[in-house]
Amino acid sequence: MKLKNDKYKHARGGASRLLLISCQKCGAKICQYQKDGPGGLRRMYVDRISEPAVSLARKDLTCPNGHLLGIKIIYEKEDRPAFRLVADSFVKKIVKA
Ligand SMILES: [Zn+2]
Repeated sequence: MKLKNDKYKHARGGASRLLLISCQKCGAKICQYQKDGPGGLRRMYVDRISEPAVSLARKDLTCPNGHLLGIKIIYEKEDRPAFRLVADSFVKKIVKA
């Protein structure tokens, strides 16, 4: 997957990295995610999610075993759909791009 380079990335500055997100409770793969800029991962923007293994259409983001990872929101500053992540519900690993 090619990293996206657009206004959202420029707004955050710095490097982007591709992460593999999985459920902390059961280890199920959730998706890949492009994280833009520095700082912790508190929300996942829907336009940065790739290869989802679960539905992104629902309000809740859950793993295939029903563990809750996030709640869909609209990030108001950018009018941009995202999942607000539940703390300590997920594991992230850097993927070689
Ligand atoms: Zn799980």
